[in-house]
Amino acid sequence: MSSTDASLRQQLATLYQLQEHDRGLLSIRRQLQDIPRQIEQLDASVAKSTEDIAATSATLAEAEKAQRSKNAALEMNAVQREKYKAEQRTATSNDAYSALERQIEFLDRQDAETEDEILVLMDEIDRHQAALTEIEAEAAQENERNTEQKAALQAKQRELETLIAEKREKRKAFLPQIDAQLVVQYHRWMERQRTPFLALGMKGICGSCRISIQPQTLKEAQKYQKLVYCSSCKRALYVQPPSSDIPFP
Ligand SMILES: [Zn+2]
Repeated sequence: MSSTDASLRQQLATLYQLQEHDRGLLSIRRQLQDIPRQIEQLDASVAKSTEDIAATSATLAEAEKAQRSKNAALEMNAVQREKYKAEQRTATSNDAYSALERQIEFLDRQDAETEDEILVLMDEIDRHQAALTEIEAEAAQENERNTEQKAALQAKQRELETLIAEKREKRKAFLPQIDAQLVVQYHRWMERQRTPFLALGMKGICGSCRISIQPQTLKEAQKYQKLVYCSSCKRALYVQPPSSDIPFP
């Protein structure tokens, strides 16, 4: 029935090695699976600083536009003022002259207000410009860091992929040394439970669920004639041999 000449004890020892090997393989797979998420996070932080730059640039552009429109208002008033002054030179009455004078004074007051507003805007523009320069410098640094980190992650990705391929190749060497039925049982358990199939039994305790192995079961298991299971967690037991001359696990 057995597809191998190895004793059950030897097979259990090999299966235990295979299980450890697969545990390593699984841990590498998890590391590999986590890399795309880490790359996404780096990309998201770049997208965030691009957004910040766009928002600050928009605020700056708005302030500059407001400043241009205030300057245009000053220019329009200057033209109007010249017109009034020309009319004053040809005014035929004192009343007409004074009316024009009041118009000019109105323009002067309006200009004074506009000039104050321009000063406030200039201050705002300076602040936005400084903020933008700072954000851009930070973003450039961040980009550089992210590019490095991304390259490192991609290198790690390739490294892990190679390691997985190697480990998958190596695990093939274990299989012919274990009874085919036992291998099937092992794979089924791993697929369903995603936890170790084989539990070490040491000092009369199941290494997986930490519950005492019944004396009868332990005695049976130490004969290595048939597969014995933990009555509590249902895992196959690989128990410590009664003699310390035999290697374990
Ligand atoms: Zn158990």
